[in-house]
Amino acid sequence: MNVKEASRPVTYHVCPHCDEEIQEKSTYGAYGGLIDVHRPCGGMIEFPEQVYDSSSPLLRAIQPHMNEARKLREEARAYISTATPFPEDFKARCRKSGYNVE
Ligand SMILES: [Zn+2]
Repeated sequence: MNVKEASRPVTYHVCPHCDEEIQEKSTYGAYGGLIDVHRPCGGMIEFPEQVYDSSSPLLRAIQPHMNEARKLREEARAYISTATPFPEDFKARCRKSGYNVE
């Protein structure tokens, strides 16, 4: 008996800097893992915010950390885009969230 064929839509991420598909393992975390970088072109990228199941107690518990991490990434991008060194209080907040941005 012959197998059937089917197709499905595939969603993938494209780098906003070089327009290449972002392959698995083609990114790394810069600034202590705070900022994702597309390895082939070196551009800073931000993946879409994940939508989590709010009925999960564990995911609800980590939501404040994820919100803080998102704020830190936004602030870091602003400092980086203006070539402003990270202020000490910003670095302290990053360390508190597990990002060693030295
Ligand atoms: Zn790229």
